[in-house]
Amino acid sequence: MLPLFKKYPLLKAKLLYVSLGEFPTPVQKLARLGKEIGAKQLYIKRDDLSGKIFGGNKVRKLEFLLGSALHNKRKEVLTFGAAGSNHALATAIYAQHLGLRTISMLTPQHNAYYVRRNLLMSHHYEAELHQYSTILLVTRLTALAVAYQLLRHRLRYGQFPQIIPLGGSSPLGAIGFVNAGFELKEQVAKGEIPEPDYIYVAAASMGTAAGLILGLTAAGLKSQVVPVRVRDKSFTNEHRMSKLINKTNILLSSLDYSFPKFWFRKNNICIEHGFFGKGYAIFTEEGMKAIELMKSTEGIQLEGTYTGKALAALINDSQKKELADKVVLFWKTDDPMAFSDITGKGDYHQLPKCFHSYFTEGVQPLDK
Ligand SMILES: *Cc1c(COP(=O)(O)O)cnc(C)c1O
Repeated sequence: MLPLFKKYPLLKAKLLYVSLGEFPTPVQKLARLGKEIGAKQLYIKRDDLSGKIFGGNKVRKLEFLLGSALHNKRKEVLTFGAAGSNHALATAIYAQHLGLRTISMLTPQHNAYYVRRNLLMSHHYEAELHQYSTILLVTRLTALAVAYQLLRHRLRYGQFPQIIPLGGSSPLGAIGFVNAGFELKEQVAKGEIPEPDYIYVAAASMGTAAGLILGLTAAGLKSQVVPVRVRDKSFTNEHRMSKLINKTNILLSSLDYSFPKFWFRKNNICIEHGFFGKGYAIFTEEGMKAIELMKSTEGIQLEGTYTGKALAALINDSQKKELADKVVLFWKTDDPMAFSDITGKGDYHQLPKCFHSYFTEGVQPLDK
């Protein structure tokens, strides 16, 4: 049973949850990397192992989001992301597993090999892919594009699709990471890891960090989360994160009055802004160095959009000696699986034309 449900049985009765992943995910000591960077007690939380088909941080959110879609008897879900969105792919995979169709509304992004992988994989899992331009985003006409798709699907299938927000980061999705906080508490209690002083995690739509902060606080752990920003500041910031934490908190305590109530303000949140680089999904030199170091010392693969940047922040702090005697946990949110058996056979010509340029044009120089 989910650690959150063990502690709050009323939540189990009220939340519409479907089991999709493999939990708890392991924690491991990174002795070699820790020695290399001068952090003696460095650990990793392996959320890359959260799913048999596709892991990463989106599985925890989808257990609640798709659980709710199933309960509402929806046949389709509509979600959002960049062209190479891991969230859109995870949704396509797990929705299909549950017999639901996925419609993905994707925005343009900088090219990388994983964008090709995720587009081909989403197509393989029968997601309906649409590109909507940045113009619509900037002029806030997104709602029109979405309304059009909703209506079209309503007319065709007699029912509106359930909307899942960008990155799965609604209060409902964030509950997946509230549970992750309780999961970590159990691992601390079992002696698998000492109680972390700091937890480094990549932050974009913030459901991961927001859920964790709330979950750790409710579970009574002192661990301080260091969300490392990988998207624009107008989107990923302390104000929006504290709002998401509070909304998630209100949802949980309205379902179970015994769930503690907190109130987070933006100055309770400390986002690391210094490792973003030039833009979302634009790889950085420090990020790529961090990836190489993890690979050469521990044999663990990271990626350039999220986890490379998060590890670069951790390494930088360890060089300031701040982390030497602290227990530091790196939360691995990606699943860099290549899926070459499927993508090798996939032909990009089967994708809508607007996505072909990701295959005909080169990837960014730092992507190897
Ligand atoms: C989506 C994603 C994140 C960011 O999680 P948010 O909850 O959106 O902040 C981090 N790492 C990877 C690999 C992701 O796919």
